[in-house]
Amino acid sequence: MQLDAFQKQDPDQQSDSFEGQHRVAVLLPMPLKGPLDYRVDGDCPPLGSFVWVKVGGKVSPGVVWDLPEEISGAEENATSKTKQYPLHKLKLIENIIDVPPMRDDLRQTIDFVAHYTLSDPGLVLRMALSTRQAFKATPIKMVYFAGGEIPERLTPPRQRALDAVKGHGAMTVRQIADVAGVGEGVVRGLISCGTLVGIEQGVDKKYQQPKVTGQWPTLNDEQHQAATALLVNIKEGGFKPALLEGVTGSGKTEVYFEAIKAVLEKPYHDGQVMVLLPEIALTSQWLDRFEARFGVKPVVWHSNMGTAERRRAWKGVAEGHARVVVGARSALFLPFRDLALIIVDEEHDPSFKQEEGVFYHARDMAVVRASFKKIPIILASATPSYESLHNVEQGKYQHLTMRLRHGGATLPDVSLVDMRLDQPPSGRWISPSLEKALAEKLEQKQQAMLFLNRRGYAPLTLCRTCGERLTCPHCTSWLVEHRQRGQVLCHHCGYGMRTPDECPECHEEGSLVPCGPGVERIVEEVGNLFPEARILSMTSDTLPTTEETLAAIDQIISGSVDIIVGTQIVTKGYHFPGLTLVGVIDADLGLKGGDLRAGERTWQQLSQVAGRAGRDSAKGNVYIQTYQPDHPVNEALKAGDQQAFLKADMESRQTHHMPPFGRLAALIVSGPDEGLVIKAARRLAATAPHYKGVGVLGPAPAPLALLRGQYRYRLLMKAEAGIALQKMIRQWLEKAGKMGKVRVKVDIDPYSFF
Ligand code: ADP
Ligand code: ZN
Repeated sequence: MQLDAFQKQDPDQQSDSFEGQHRVAVLLPMPLKGPLDYRVDGDCPPLGSFVWVKVGGKVSPGVVWDLPEEISGAEENATSKTKQYPLHKLKLIENIIDVPPMRDDLRQTIDFVAHYTLSDPGLVLRMALSTRQAFKATPIKMVYFAGGEIPERLTPPRQRALDAVKGHGAMTVRQIADVAGVGEGVVRGLISCGTLVGIEQGVDKKYQQPKVTGQWPTLNDEQHQAATALLVNIKEGGFKPALLEGVTGSGKTEVYFEAIKAVLEKPYHDGQVMVLLPEIALTSQWLDRFEARFGVKPVVWHSNMGTAERRRAWKGVAEGHARVVVGARSALFLPFRDLALIIVDEEHDPSFKQEEGVFYHARDMAVVRASFKKIPIILASATPSYESLHNVEQGKYQHLTMRLRHGGATLPDVSLVDMRLDQPPSGRWISPSLEKALAEKLEQKQQAMLFLNRRGYAPLTLCRTCGERLTCPHCTSWLVEHRQRGQVLCHHCGYGMRTPDECPECHEEGSLVPCGPGVERIVEEVGNLFPEARILSMTSDTLPTTEETLAAIDQIISGSVDIIVGTQIVTKGYHFPGLTLVGVIDADLGLKGGDLRAGERTWQQLSQVAGRAGRDSAKGNVYIQTYQPDHPVNEALKAGDQQAFLKADMESRQTHHMPPFGRLAALIVSGPDEGLVIKAARRLAATAPHYKGVGVLGPAPAPLALLRGQYRYRLLMKAEAGIALQKMIRQWLEKAGKMGKVRVKVDIDPYSFF
């Protein structure tokens, strides 16, 4: 790939022939179009080396992106926006960081992501360099071993200290004193007379290697077939994408554990495995399950890790002794020394799409990385994305299916509750039939779960005197009441205030009423219906930390909870053996707004939440409350047959050239001055490219027309499959020219349309 920073070389400047000096291109984690040139004295560092360089008066880490050969190779396409500096004027690289160089597959992936998402490569690199601590020298401590002469006068405490060291190996002064039960002075005495000898030791311990131990289950026929296919892929190597589609509880995890095992056992290889999971699923039983099979916890990578833990993980990955790394989407950019297998579990999960900074889809880019590294990749889901199903149809992905739940557990019975006929009393949201089912489960001492994808108490607060709605001053959105906190909050920008006692408009006291339900309100309703029941609320508000989520999961499994009420957290891959009833409070919620993926997303979400029921021996029941019982999604869920729905929904996408049959890119124009935003959006529309098979819709005010004080307009570019959108958009933006105070963000393959 050609980068703009490479300049045409002036033949008069015989700069690169400087004795023993070289020009290297270093990519920095900054918003620049490409790498910057630096000079090295002496040997050229290998491609991918991590280095410290000076830039703009500061020192920054960077990565050697190209060496002199590549630089001259880029001449033809070089632009001449900036003049190429003669070698002797270039800054010297400060120093080379003592970590293994970044491998080709990651550098290629970074370039690809930048190109694909129209982002500066430096900003993509920034995601790979998020762990600055790893570039500083590893903190060290002094440890002491018995190496010197034995002193003539060996007091009993000294003897104990010496014995401790001999018995335990090298330790710090503190540790020796503790083990021997002596004062630190005694230990220091032995050091000063040379009996104990000190050496420096890095504080980052190597990771223990996973070992195939523990109890491994005997696979059933379907599982065996799928696993066998995966093992062949691993044995043969090469880029082999496979979609592992198995109903909830069919044992997908067990099957891909076999693949991990095969990588670890491969003779003469130290291949590493990357497992991507939605962030929330990381807190689940996954880690324990892994430990039960492999004897150690996997190396974990997620957004709220401590500094030391991050440094150790990053280095372990780069050095190669972190063999299995499980992480959220950002793990995609870890510097694996020798990646051998990628697994993306719950591959349909929307959280794999990052929608800030660089807008990229971690699943898609994981496939890209696997293709560069020429290794197998497994995408697992009970409800695969249409993109992956389409790739299967096109013969690009292998398709491995498992239709049965393991161990004879059957899929739950699904009933649709027609809310027009089966109405709850006013101000309540649980229908009589769901209430009855809940009562039965309580009677039988089984667990139930209610799902409503809406945080807070009520989505809207209305004044019944003047009709005023509480809205966010910075966004086009209602303020959501959070009764527990006594606040109304904006879910888009975080703005909040104490819930007012009187209407801010007409000042009528006690006139504000909550409209509609959020989970808090369902918790309240369940509490009123079943005062004896032990209720657990599972939302990002009630369980803000990993520890709290883990504790909640333990509570559920140990049976100290009767009814769980939660938001989309509960749709994730948890396995709660005692759970036999799932109630969906409002199945129509996700279908509102009607964006392109509404059907797909609702189907995925409801199948997943339904899939939590009856995973053990007892039969599960699912109640879906809806005003549209004949909606194809609902019919499919009831019939337990997704084929008809998927076929119809996919066909409609195909007819309209929508993804995955066509391509989309959104342009979001935003700025603090609405007039300027509209002007810029209109100018973009006026300069839109005219090509066969390409259309541009808009501009239209975004559904969230105001977000964090920024006015927003959207354009949508639609293209037939196979058309290179990126190039077209790049040219388009250049043609449209400078936008002043207005920002244009491009979202390739958009998932959100707000
Ligand atoms: P999925 O990921 O497809 O939802 P899991 O891998 O979580 O399914 O399996 C569901 C449950 O069934 C887990 O508790 C798992 O340990 C168990 N299980 C799956 N396959 C087997 C097997 N072959 N033998 C014993 N237990 C199994
Ligand atoms: Zn707001």
